[in-house]
Amino acid sequence: MPKETIEFKAEVAEVLNLVIHSLYSHREVFLRELVSNAADAIDKRRFEALTQTALGDPAGYAIRIIPDKKRKMLTIRDNGIGMTREELVQNIGTIAASGSKAFLEKLKENQKAGVELIGQFGVGFYSAFMVADKVEVWTKSASGSPAMLWISEGKGGYTLEETEKEKAGTDVILHLKNEADEFLEDWRIREIVQKYSDYVSHPIHLEGEKEEVLNKTTAIWRRPKTEIKNEEYEEFYKYISHDTEGPLAWTHHTIEGGIEFRLLLFIPQKAPVNLFHEESPGLRLHVKKMFVTEDLKELLPLYLRFVRGVVDSEDLPLNVSRETLQHNALIPKMRKQLTKKLLDLLEDLAKNQPEKYAAFWKEFGIALKEGVASDFENRDRVIELLRFPSSKTAEGETVSLADYAGRMKEGQKDIYYIAGANRAACERSPHMETFRTHGIEVLYMTDVVDEWMISALGPYKDKKLQSITRGDLDLSNLGDAKDKKEIEKQQSEFRGLADKIRAVLQEEEVKEVRVSSRLSESPACLVADEEGLDANMERILKAMKRTVEVSKRTFEINPTHPVIANLKRIHEKKADDARLGPWIKLLYNQALLAEGSEIPNPSEMVQGISSLLAEVSADSGKS
Ligand code: ADP
Repeated sequence: MPKETIEFKAEVAEVLNLVIHSLYSHREVFLRELVSNAADAIDKRRFEALTQTALGDPAGYAIRIIPDKKRKMLTIRDNGIGMTREELVQNIGTIAASGSKAFLEKLKENQKAGVELIGQFGVGFYSAFMVADKVEVWTKSASGSPAMLWISEGKGGYTLEETEKEKAGTDVILHLKNEADEFLEDWRIREIVQKYSDYVSHPIHLEGEKEEVLNKTTAIWRRPKTEIKNEEYEEFYKYISHDTEGPLAWTHHTIEGGIEFRLLLFIPQKAPVNLFHEESPGLRLHVKKMFVTEDLKELLPLYLRFVRGVVDSEDLPLNVSRETLQHNALIPKMRKQLTKKLLDLLEDLAKNQPEKYAAFWKEFGIALKEGVASDFENRDRVIELLRFPSSKTAEGETVSLADYAGRMKEGQKDIYYIAGANRAACERSPHMETFRTHGIEVLYMTDVVDEWMISALGPYKDKKLQSITRGDLDLSNLGDAKDKKEIEKQQSEFRGLADKIRAVLQEEEVKEVRVSSRLSESPACLVADEEGLDANMERILKAMKRTVEVSKRTFEINPTHPVIANLKRIHEKKADDARLGPWIKLLYNQALLAEGSEIPNPSEMVQGISSLLAEVSADSGKS
């Protein structure tokens, strides 16, 4: 096949450009990325060779770094799986489509985030262009197809041609830029490899002034805990996660009895931008030390997708494909133990290092909420790990359900919550008034998944989770709250006005009008049924572009508010007073605005306000 010139996909060009410019101060990571690709390629070949012996390399596996000062070239050589022509075009000419858009957007938003993003999105290879103005990839697939040579100067595209290469594997040759010749120095290469790649499980040879092996190749998870320094755990985490920051916490165990495996699990400090992508990498599964896969989703429940780490099984068979692995009966058993150890870690943080737990919650709480609905076996443990802001916590702080229950008011039976877009929206809601006045704590549910989670949660230790924007709240048994009799009395006193209001609002989404026990400052508010959509749910569904069938709500009036008291008087004097209609409509629109909903007809409201102002100013003009 003749030499071809192929253009980069548009995204590649853009990513390249951004990678080169935004990562420049961290450009040494190019070596980590290329070494890590080489190690992955060796893992793949070694794994394939388990079932197809002919694919293996009897000479043993290694990564070689070969500086050539005279020609300003740096070669990273592996005897891994290599690439066919198609694989080369597919892997090096395009960027994994799933993440690349998100990657670009994030990178534009925050150039500094680049170093962390680079690993998450698999743009590792392109980092070579930070130090090289030309890159050659010589590769031959272990499957035996012809060797290929890929050459690019990082602008526009690359050339591709068949070539000769004796052994399977890949050579990546970097023609270093003038200002990058530090990467030809033995000491510099040694420093970078030891910093970033010490845990690569294949030997990394430096073929410089003298030949040496740079890394320890020990499996950290197989060493006794007592001998491992925190820094070692941190560096290992960075190596497997491509994170620049260390982990928030980790747990390291050997499981024995029944099944035997080692686990080393990490919780990152920050949630990756693609946390909720299907693609997020899982645990690295090893069998008797040998790396097998990191795609085995069955190892952890989905809601723990933020966990990074290594599992090393003594029992799984080595010579099986990844596909049959996922049906192996040991996997659910391992998953059970892994989940347990992770929850142990979280409980320990929550109890003994609450600041760390708070940091965890801020990043990953939303993932844990999924567990309430999906992890039936552990739901009670997950529920205790939930945290919520509330009317009694300072900005940024949270409370657990256990703490809430522990400080409930005497006579209080339910756990109260309000769902809203954010803390401020919850605080501002008129529904909060009576709770504030009576000092009753209300949880703020500000994540979109919250109400869905609450329906999965059910009661917490016999205490119902009660939305304060729904249903006919009965606060009468709370000592200082309004008592039932009084409300009933007001209910009948205001019956006439309530009927009038209902008649005026019959076109609107109102089905009932009643005296409120939840208001103290506002004249009126809207309340959903226990099962109906409240304003927040409506907002969320609309944002998801779902067609919303609004259920009619109850309009509650505050009998102690002067506006309501005056309306009652006007109505008693003259039931068909012409002012009542427009004023009631104004009250209704006001209630909609107060809960953050859109009003159906803003111009009608503006007109209403104008004529009201005209009337009031005319009145005061007279006096
Ligand atoms: P990532 O490694 O995160 O997938 P890269 O851009 O670094 O992203 O590499 C893209 C793909 O190219 C890899 O997933 C792999 O399939 C292939 N590749 C890169 N380097 C090598 C290599 N040395 N040997 C075999 N395949 C490689």
